[in-house]
Amino acid sequence: VKTNELAFIFETKGLKKTAIRLKVLEYLVKKQSAISQPELEKKFKNEADRVTLYRVLNVLQKKGIVHKIIDLEGTSRYALCFSKDCTDDHHHDEHIHFNCNKCDRVVCITDSITPKIKLPRNFRLSHITLNAVGICDKCMLLNKKTA
Ligand SMILES: [Zn+2]
Ligand SMILES: [Zn+2]
Ligand SMILES: [Zn+2]
Repeated sequence: VKTNELAFIFETKGLKKTAIRLKVLEYLVKKQSAISQPELEKKFKNEADRVTLYRVLNVLQKKGIVHKIIDLEGTSRYALCFSKDCTDDHHHDEHIHFNCNKCDRVVCITDSITPKIKLPRNFRLSHITLNAVGICDKCMLLNKKTA
């Protein structure tokens, strides 16, 4: 997703384009890793309060634009949806989330294969959370430079 495609996202998902929604989405696209609400509060402290930011994340999630990830510390983070089938409250983001233990980034590994889980009778699956932990590509590059 490129920044100039953001307007299109708003249009196809039927979401009103407000300045703060656009800014949050723009930031998310540029960052290429998942964001947390505290991070947004810091970044947009002069533009929006925490309730506004909470609502922005909430509506983006509801509209199938971002999906929620629980990181290893149990903090909620949000990343762009890659599936075009994500809709109001129904996400298809079953992929592994890579947690870098050096820079703390959380990245969607969208081409990862997730296991099909065979559940016992009368169990109903709502979603699968898969976390991978290691060192991300950016940190690997930094490692090489300093070595
Ligand atoms: Zn989604
Ligand atoms: Zn890293
Ligand atoms: Zn993801």
